[in-house]
Amino acid sequence: MSGPDVVLILDRLAAVYGQGAYPGRSPEGLSPAWPCDPFHVLIATILSQRTKDDNTRKASDTLFARFGTVQTLAAADPAEVAGLIRPAGFPQQKAKAIVACCSELCTRFGGRVPPATEELVTLPMVGRKTAACVRSYAMGLPSVCVDTHVQRIANLMGLVHTAKPEETEQALMAITPKERWSDINRYLVRHGQLTCLPRHPHCERCAVRDLCAYGREHGDDRSGPPAR
Ligand code: SF4
Repeated sequence: MSGPDVVLILDRLAAVYGQGAYPGRSPEGLSPAWPCDPFHVLIATILSQRTKDDNTRKASDTLFARFGTVQTLAAADPAEVAGLIRPAGFPQQKAKAIVACCSELCTRFGGRVPPATEELVTLPMVGRKTAACVRSYAMGLPSVCVDTHVQRIANLMGLVHTAKPEETEQALMAITPKERWSDINRYLVRHGQLTCLPRHPHCERCAVRDLCAYGREHGDDRSGPPAR
């Protein structure tokens, strides 16, 4: 049996969330004060690991106000960077990675963020999710960025049946036209923040309930879905 129609789901979510989640818009952790370019998106996405968007925005605002380029961050003292990014959590670990990352961008890539996933994932604290976020939001390259919202909602909908983000990425790429890959993160993140909340999804007002495996079977169950 075939699964839900992913294109129809994306079209419906686009109609609901519209410009709030469309190209040229920064990922949720980067405030609009900063350009949606590869450098800012890369650093903000590293900061966003294991924290909330609000914390990422606070940390990136302070950091970019002090260090606004790859070169200045590459030469920064990790201890000072750690002090600036404290709201994002794990400040020492993230500061060390950010300075090392910028240093590698300078020495190996001429101060630019490379576009290839295979190169991006060689940088400190850059995995496939971060690479896909940079590629899709800052470079306009089709990529499926699987964060916690995408992992959870794609499984609830029945689009995929996967336990790991890497499996989800592959499965979503296989069922989605390439030109829509980047829409998956844009719309499912927005959907996860506003409607399909982790503990209590609002199936009663969801635009894709008829296409969603969980919503059709358990949408009226107030106990909520199992944690993922
Ligand atoms: S029907 Fe419910 S579980 Fe399915 S996507 Fe909508 S809010 Fe989420």
